[in-house]
Amino acid sequence: MSYAEVAVGIRTEPGRTFSYSIPRDLAVRKGHAVQVPFGPRQLPGFVFEVTELPGYPETRDIARVIDTQPWLTDAQVELARWISGHYHASLYSAASLMIPPGFRQRVVAVYRATPEPPQTSLESLDDRQELLLHYARDRKQVGQGEVEARFGKRPASVLLGQLVRKRLLSRAWEWRKPTVQAKFANYASLAVERTQALEETERLAASRAVKQAKLLNAILEQAGGVPLSDLNQRFGPSRPALKALEERGIVAVHQERVERDPLANRQYPATRPHDLTDDQQRAWEQIGKALDREEPPGSLFLLHGVTGSGKTELYLNALQRVVDQGRKGIVLVPEISLTPQTIARFAGRFPGRVAVLHSRLTPGQHFDEWWRIREGEFDVVVGSRGAIFAPQPNLGLIVLDEEHEWTYKQQDPQPRYHARAVAGKLAELTGATVIMGSATPQIESYHKALSGEYRLLELPDRIVVQEDGQGGAGALPRVELVDMRQELKKGNRSVFSRALSRGMTDALERKEQVILFLNRRGAATFVQCRDCGYVARCKRCDSTMTYHGEAPRGAHLLCHQCGYRTPPPVHCPDCWSSNIRYMGLGTERLETEVGKAFPGATTLRWDRDVTRGHDSHEKIMEQFLGRKADILIGTQMIAKGLHLPGVTLVGVVNADIGLYSPEFRAGERVFQVLCQVAGRSGRGASRGQVIIQTYSPGNYAVASAAAQDYKAFYNQELGLRMETRLPPFSQLVRLLYMHTNAAYAQREAQRMHHTLAEQLEQWAFPGTKLVGPAPAPLERIRGRYRWHVIIQGPDPNLLLSKVSIPEGWAVDVDPVQLL
Ligand code: ADP
Ligand code: ZN
Ligand code: ZN
Repeated sequence: MSYAEVAVGIRTEPGRTFSYSIPRDLAVRKGHAVQVPFGPRQLPGFVFEVTELPGYPETRDIARVIDTQPWLTDAQVELARWISGHYHASLYSAASLMIPPGFRQRVVAVYRATPEPPQTSLESLDDRQELLLHYARDRKQVGQGEVEARFGKRPASVLLGQLVRKRLLSRAWEWRKPTVQAKFANYASLAVERTQALEETERLAASRAVKQAKLLNAILEQAGGVPLSDLNQRFGPSRPALKALEERGIVAVHQERVERDPLANRQYPATRPHDLTDDQQRAWEQIGKALDREEPPGSLFLLHGVTGSGKTELYLNALQRVVDQGRKGIVLVPEISLTPQTIARFAGRFPGRVAVLHSRLTPGQHFDEWWRIREGEFDVVVGSRGAIFAPQPNLGLIVLDEEHEWTYKQQDPQPRYHARAVAGKLAELTGATVIMGSATPQIESYHKALSGEYRLLELPDRIVVQEDGQGGAGALPRVELVDMRQELKKGNRSVFSRALSRGMTDALERKEQVILFLNRRGAATFVQCRDCGYVARCKRCDSTMTYHGEAPRGAHLLCHQCGYRTPPPVHCPDCWSSNIRYMGLGTERLETEVGKAFPGATTLRWDRDVTRGHDSHEKIMEQFLGRKADILIGTQMIAKGLHLPGVTLVGVVNADIGLYSPEFRAGERVFQVLCQVAGRSGRGASRGQVIIQTYSPGNYAVASAAAQDYKAFYNQELGLRMETRLPPFSQLVRLLYMHTNAAYAQREAQRMHHTLAEQLEQWAFPGTKLVGPAPAPLERIRGRYRWHVIIQGPDPNLLLSKVSIPEGWAVDVDPVQLL
């Protein structure tokens, strides 16, 4: 007899498995998805280990193996174990990250009428019970859902329970069908020789079976078969005529799997590698050595280089090397950078060998890609965060572009993993090399690079392609910092400083393009009563409401936190004054201001309000690239991964947004976004210019961004972190509790703090401390009060593992934000 340790689909503490026996007729291996009995239920699970001895004296049998092939590779089983432990999540939830979405089969209860029911039971039924019994008898079996639809949710479960107890119904368990399945389409193709088919066509035409003749002709023209949908489209409903042809054995109709390939119908011009510049060559030598395994496998590189310094070119070279060795790669980019431009870069170098995974894929597309990746069909998988779990066999390289991006951290649900940390672990398990690239590495990453945990590679200069096609070192854009307090003193109340409006006028005259960056949407960012000072706030979140003045919804106030919407106030609700002021500047109003100040210029806006559709990002970018507009106005969406050669001036309208956020990473964030925006300027032939408007020119984040000096910023920031013992000088775990009742949330947080404090006293983990309990900076979201407790220390997981976390708490290990 052998046994299996199974991660079962219920809420459990991290790392927990349950022991089951393996029946003789089942072949069960590590990584298999299975169905197991659990109490009175049947649940899905994953096999984490097959053993000779059970971990528990009495075991029940595994009920079923879902698929003959294991869904998890050995490395993924170990990876799930690590994720479960490190991020404090159940093993099952960690393993679920690695299987295709929409394919999480579930076990559901089904009911069948018992063949020989006890007579006494039959006599004791009331009307509703009788009704349900008849309903069930008319069918082979009924599902809970059907019964709920007929009788209502609560009555259904009561009635079903009663009938089961009376032994009139029996309960069994079934797998709910996967919600997503491979898609098949009907194809018609020839079942006879071409010559015979040609003769047949003529005969049919002569005998006036015109439709059949046309269909046969169309099928003749296309070797390999024609989709029925095409025939229907061209000739109208074709089924009956086809049937006649089919019955005479001239044509065959069969089903074929349709690949819902997101790259289908797109052509990517093939590209060739460039000759590397000297800086690239220096970095490449180190990467090449690691890939050729002259060094211990699992190397982690941090590639620090400004935008346009040739990082992507190195990723492509590294991928090529790995592919030449018969291995495969995964490339992670932030979701927002998964633009057609980015995809074209990779697809152009590996035509037909690139899979794309991102959150906008339909479940069908995702499902297909997952299986094809697993079959080894792609050399390279490009995708956002979750693509780190792509089942790429024989993995040789993981690239994480823009490694500092916050979107690499999953927020909800558990496991709240960070793709960078997962990549590091995966590299350790598979021997793959990791390259993390950024112009503005996260403080912790750069710290690791300086201390030798990562290997630092630098590309200090932007590449400018010269006349002969060779790449050379180019200059960074000129950056000018404008003190808006001085502008006010000089009597300039406009949103444009004199320097910015001069720059814009010049650029427009030269027929060059301009980007205006403002990290805030809407028209007015808050709405205030002039008489009593009342400010309109969201009644669910406490955050201030933003005024949006535009069609299609017309003027309204919007909460950017939860999406709550109200009409703009006519009167102040506190003092009934009608003296309402609209204050603060968002992208919507900025567009109006540009229209007033530069009436001859055409503008395009790019923010969340205008990019709701699927491909609207693409459209806006195409328009701007095609010079359909002179000025692009946008939030941080415009900061990412775009190559816009026509842009020579970038104006940052207000650099201070976000600077005074209560987050300890606020400075880092402002620095990163300013550098990124600045990097959009002058990517064509002419040297770019950047104008940054600020009320805090002395702030270190703003000043070092203006100087484009990462190291200056790093040193200042590191000093602050050291004083406060914040990461990288400690690690954080945040425990967050939310409840509609404020007092309840507070009590629960106090209780948690008390439990942690007790354990901390008992174990005395050195350097570990608790912060809170305190209301989170965003005290209320969607009507729920939020309280948190933070554990800070060299290894806060040590303390965390000593307590059991009650339901309702969200555990966030290594949080990227504490709002
Ligand atoms: P990054 O990823 O750092 O933003 P890229 O790799 O995209 O930089 O390079 C910026 C531009 O320079 C791209 O258009 C790229 O094709 C080009 N480029 C990169 N390396 C070279 C090179 N060695 N010679 C010529 N052009 C290059
Ligand atoms: Zn008022
Ligand atoms: Zn709200």
